[in-house]
Amino acid sequence: MGHLGHPFPMTESPAIYFDSHMHTPLCKHAEGHPIEYMQHGVSKNLKGIIMTCHSPMPDRFSHRVRMSPEQFGTYMEMVSEAAEEAPDGFDVLLGMESDWFPGMEPWLTELHSSADFHYILGSVHWHIPEYIDAFWKGDSSAFRIQYFEHLAESAESGLFDSLAHPDLVKNASPEDWHFETVQPHIESALDRIAASGVAMELNTSGLNKVMPEMNPGPQMLELMCSRGIPVVIGSDSHNPGRVGESFLSGLGMLEKAGYDKVSIFRERKRQDLLISKVKETIAP
Ligand SMILES: [Zn+2]
Ligand SMILES: [Zn+2]
Repeated sequence: MGHLGHPFPMTESPAIYFDSHMHTPLCKHAEGHPIEYMQHGVSKNLKGIIMTCHSPMPDRFSHRVRMSPEQFGTYMEMVSEAAEEAPDGFDVLLGMESDWFPGMEPWLTELHSSADFHYILGSVHWHIPEYIDAFWKGDSSAFRIQYFEHLAESAESGLFDSLAHPDLVKNASPEDWHFETVQPHIESALDRIAASGVAMELNTSGLNKVMPEMNPGPQMLELMCSRGIPVVIGSDSHNPGRVGESFLSGLGMLEKAGYDKVSIFRERKRQDLLISKVKETIAP
């Protein structure tokens, strides 16, 4: 086409994949308007992005790291603004990263029916004060077992399309994290998740965490693959420059674990794509 400054990169293959996990400044720990996330998504030759900011919660639950219930309308407006600014053929879709926590199910049911979401990520955020107050009893091993139990419960709640960063708890006490010790608990959680039909996320932001590997790591991915659990890749960007980050190595990890397909959600329905096709389209 040769338009100087055209936002589309010159790639051979038409874009097909999405980055399905990213935030907005409404959560008080992310920067950049969704328009900027959209622009970075375009430069990575993605087909679109799904904004999944941290869910509003009732009674000031973990309010320091999320939008207030009153800001939910603003959130939807910001996502629409980015959708309007996007080049033809690039989608900016509404999603949410919702906190799973015992007793919050009615709130989340209501929230998820209050807008036309394309994708709902469920998160067990072990590091928020409310979770630590309720479940930290001074024993890191028991804490991890509880986390994986909660992960399975969150899948069985039927509230979510996919489970975000599903081994995040390895950052709780990384010096005594031994995969083999936790493996039986992970496996029984994965059996329940597989039975629920819920997908799981491969979150590339794990590379920047205390324990520098994606969430989940390679051993857990293999156990997921052997149970046929679908995977959606997300960058969990809290700044626009990370959109699509490490997607090619994420796809490589999936192949190593035995996967030949990777998934995305749209209108809360899963679509499975061949990894070999997706790889051809992602800009490095
Ligand atoms: Zn966040
Ligand atoms: Zn999260």
